[in-house]
Amino acid sequence: MKKKLELKIVKRILLIGFTVVCLCIIVCAATKLDLFAYIGIGLAVVTLIFWVIFGRCPACGKFLRRSSSKICRFCGQQISWK
Ligand SMILES: [Zn+2]
Repeated sequence: MKKKLELKIVKRILLIGFTVVCLCIIVCAATKLDLFAYIGIGLAVVTLIFWVIFGRCPACGKFLRRSSSKICRFCGQQISWK
């Protein structure tokens, strides 16, 4: 299962995902509508799954865990986020 997506794009989608999740939580708190809480939780899960699938080292394909690591913990490959 080798999927390739540039890490800078992955990170951007991740940031957008979590921004929308935060917005949903704020809107939910402001409007008291459960719907936004469900959307927020759903989006958070989707964003996490997306990260698990694509947040991988370009060299060895292992899961990076953190979007801030500069070097792969497994093979030492430099990770470029820009
Ligand atoms: Zn690696």
